[in-house]
Amino acid sequence: MTHIAIEHLTISYETPQGNEFVAVQDFHLEIDRGRFVTIVGPSGCGKSSLLLAVDGLLRPTSGRVVIDGTVVTKPGRDRAMVFQSFALLPWRTVLDNVRFGLELQRWNADDPVERACRFIEIVGLSGFESHYPHQLSGGMQQRVGIARALAVDPAILLMDEPFGALDAQTREIMGSELLRIWESNKQTALFVTHSIDEALLLGDTVVVMARNPGRILDVIPVDLPRPRSVEMTDTAAFAEHRRRIRQHLRAERTAGE
Ligand code: ADP
Ligand code: MG
Repeated sequence: MTHIAIEHLTISYETPQGNEFVAVQDFHLEIDRGRFVTIVGPSGCGKSSLLLAVDGLLRPTSGRVVIDGTVVTKPGRDRAMVFQSFALLPWRTVLDNVRFGLELQRWNADDPVERACRFIEIVGLSGFESHYPHQLSGGMQQRVGIARALAVDPAILLMDEPFGALDAQTREIMGSELLRIWESNKQTALFVTHSIDEALLLGDTVVVMARNPGRILDVIPVDLPRPRSVEMTDTAAFAEHRRRIRQHLRAERTAGE
């Protein structure tokens, strides 16, 4: 039951000198419906480019993304993205930013204001509904972005380092919140992170990437039982996975020197 097929995706950019720079090379991955896939790799290995292509905001140089049998050419209601850079509307309050996603999708299943408030509460921002983005910390702005994406209940959740701006403790709390939501809705999720532990704790599968060119080094099935908890990071199975990923990333660093 493949939900998302990323088929031999290559993404090139033109450099200011007019040369071709290959950001992602021959990335191939098939993701079953309801799976949680995490992607870990050094900055510059093409993680954001990959997500933009899956969202339909960036056209690949070659290869394609197929969702439910249809080739992706533009963004769609089945996908919601949490951007690395928050991407909030500065002139709208927290409530209106979260509502905005629902408006775009012409949400009419239940009251959009009520629903927006519920997700603002889930991300721990109750009381900040009337604040504007510039009145919030980076971590809080990111949580607004997460609430906006979750509120539309997308079939596919694309998350680009969504916890990057959060402190370690908030990050842990948001991670378990996200898992709780995912376990009841079972979206297909693509989640990019720098953190090996986060990748392992969240994912059914961890994709390890390298850069220059951005490519897949390893695809690791994570056999840890669910529901997951932070305590699992202390188990031998977890440590073994962690060692494997570290080794890849270390070898990659050495090769690049
Ligand atoms: P990551 O998210 O893993 O850090 P990105 O997808 O942002 O990686 O970028 C991959 C590579 O492509 C980087 O070397 C980056 O500098 C380059 N790149 C990204 N976007 C552009 C762009 N619009 N034009 C030119 N180069 C780009
Ligand atoms: Mg990025």
